[in-house]
Parts: sequence; C-alpha cells; structure tokens
Amino acid sequence: IVAREGHPDGTIVDIRGVKLGGKDVQVIAGPCSVETQEQMHLAAAGVHAAGCKLMRGGAFKPRTSPYAFQGLGVTGLEYFGKAAREYKLPIVTELMDVRMLDTFMEHDVDVIQIGARNMQNFDLLKEVGRVNKPVILKRGLSATISELLMAAEYIAAGGNHNIILCERGIRTFETAYRNVLDITAIPVLKKETHLPVVIDPSHAGGKAWMVPALARAAVAAGADGLLIEMHPNPCEAWCDADQALTPQELKDLMVSLKAIAQAI
Ligand code: PEP
Ligand code: MN
Repeated sequence: IVAREGHPDGTIVDIRGVKLGGKDVQVIAGPCSVETQEQMHLAAAGVHAAGCKLMRGGAFKPRTSPYAFQGLGVTGLEYFGKAAREYKLPIVTELMDVRMLDTFMEHDVDVIQIGARNMQNFDLLKEVGRVNKPVILKRGLSATISELLMAAEYIAAGGNHNIILCERGIRTFETAYRNVLDITAIPVLKKETHLPVVIDPSHAGGKAWMVPALARAAVAAGADGLLIEMHPNPCEAWCDADQALTPQELKDLMVSLKAIAQAI
C-alpha cells in the first residue's frame, strides 16, 4: 500500500486544513514535553509567531531512565489542547500505549506520533491503523528503510493511509552528536513510497546549534516537513534542554527555510 508504484503524485496528508506533502514545507514545532499551562501558552505563541502551522509536545514521554520525568499524561493533553487552540494550531503528540488511544481521540489529538522506540510495536501500529487520524511514524533508532516502510505498511493495512514518515537520526559508531541524520533517507524514501517525509533535526543532532544546519539540509534535500523542538526558555526545559531552539531562533530559521524552499 505504501509503495510508490502507481502513485506518481504522492500523498498529501490533510491535518485540519494544513497540507503536509504538498508544495509547502510544513514545520511542526514545540517543546519536547508539556510542562505547565504557562509554558504551553508561551510555546504556542512562539510557534504561531514563527509562522509554523502545526505544534508538537509530548504528554507521554519514552524516557531512557524510569526515574526521569515521564510526562504529565492526560493533564498534559489538556494543557496542550488549551494552548494550541488559542492559535488554531493542530496538535501532534506521542502515543506510547494502545490503552490511551481512546483518550487521544477524546482529546482531539490531530496527529498521533509513534516514537522511534515504538516503530516496531506492531500492536500499537495495528491500532492506529484502525483510526481515522494522521500518524507520524518515526524511524527506529537502528531501523533500516525497509523496516520503516514495513512498519508503515502495518498502519496502512488497517485502512489508515494518512501516514507521515519521520527520519530522526540513526545510531552509528559516531559519538560526536546524538544520532546521525540520514539525509540519504529523503531521496530514497521519496522514491520508494508516496508518503510524505519529515525530518527531525532536533533528536538527530541533539544540540540546538546544530538544528538550523540540519533543517536547511533537509529542506534542500526535498523533505516535506520538519519536526523541531522549541521551548520558551530552553535552559529550563524538563526534557531535551540542549536541543531546544528559542522562539526567536525558530523564527530566524523559518526565514532561511523559506528561501531554500523557494530556490529548489
Ligand atoms: C520526540 O519526538 O519527542 C521523541 C521522543 O523522539 P524519538 O521517538 O525520535 O526519540
Ligand atoms: Mn525530545
């Protein structure tokens, strides 16, 4: 179902009127995790001011340590919804557990994110395949392109064809940055599948100063969109503080991304 063959035009995923996979590059921005109502209001204002049309934020966090902040859970969905609706921003948030799917539907989550660690959680993939909600499927930490496409196929097989693929950096021998952003995945995925492809430069580089360079490279290479972490006050972020852009940095980056998108 997800193979390129027979789909010369490519799929456009419509997220409450925001089109991902069309001619415009869409930037999904927001904090790693939902922390407080005030933080989410400031973040939503920053996303809107930068001209981004979609907002991200995790209420359920897949943390390496069980003792690290795990997300606010349902309260986080509430803070997120309230802040994002003020600016009419559709919300993108991670689903880790099939048992929370109904709650996500009740809270009007606009895009369900399947995180890298759950790329091959096949029961989760089957369940999101049964609902009528766009899904962002992140490439696993050490997953091949073919495994990513097969994971997408699990979702599509259930009837949900609104799938967006996300490359977020993969594990290699390199330790100088968090992950290696696989830019090559962009042309390869565009050739192999009709699904839109977004790049997450934040979890790839792991440092805020690397994000603009990686984001620009992704747009130049033909990405349909970007998933970028931005926090109203990065130093105070509860999760992934090192890689969060400030609202102003996001705004500045958007200017250069627009120029690149127009040039290609
Ligand atoms: C995230 O986007 O919040 C996240 C946890 O990313 P990943 O699943 O790519 O590690
Ligand atoms: Mn993060």
